[in-house]
Amino acid sequence: MDQPVPLVIATTNKGKIHEIRDLLKDYSVKIMELEEFDPIPRVEEDGNSFEENACKKASFTSKVLGLPALADDSGLVVEALGGLPGIHSARYAGKNATDEQKCARILMEMKDRSNRKAIFECVISIAVPNGNALTYTAHCKGLIAPKPGGQNGFGYDPIFYYPPLQKTFAELTQKEKGCISHRGKALMALKNEFNATVVWICQHMPVQKKIYM
Ligand code: IMP
Repeated sequence: MDQPVPLVIATTNKGKIHEIRDLLKDYSVKIMELEEFDPIPRVEEDGNSFEENACKKASFTSKVLGLPALADDSGLVVEALGGLPGIHSARYAGKNATDEQKCARILMEMKDRSNRKAIFECVISIAVPNGNALTYTAHCKGLIAPKPGGQNGFGYDPIFYYPPLQKTFAELTQKEKGCISHRGKALMALKNEFNATVVWICQHMPVQKKIYM
């Protein structure tokens, strides 16, 4: 197996791409981004769970491009908000809302709430063009901070306080976040069996798309 396996990251979220590239950098895999291809139709994220949406994004992208694809569906689950924003995390403050606006909405809804418990959840799905997919799931427990803190990361990082390190995710370096975050842990699970996953990908690719001889 001398050639790296191509793997398309099925997201346009730069924050996610950055973290996934960094976490898989030591592996024999050729990471490709959607912007390297002609535009493909957007997948509707209408599943009822992170897992459904992750599989849907990975399978759709893989089918359309004829290449193995990796998708991440993730989000913030806030206990006092009945689990919201959950699978609606990306658009919780409106379709074009900025990360600052999304954080502000959560802080506004959490005003005066004493239960600040929250969980970041992540499902990574790897799919091949015939629709088969593998999934890796992980979560990270924390608290909703009283106000935003830190400049790093993306999304809800400034308001997600991680008690063991006494910092918000946005106050951690990418490396520190990768060791404990939902995405870092899901990718760690993938990395732990990466060689087997690569064999699985190659076995499931259509004959004309076999990755190595
Ligand atoms: P989706 O998985 O593309 O539906 O988007 C998930 C949304 O959840 C992102 O747009 C972020 O707002 C949020 N999110 C997911 N992972 C993280 C993270 O590691 N830090 C901060 N926000 C995140």
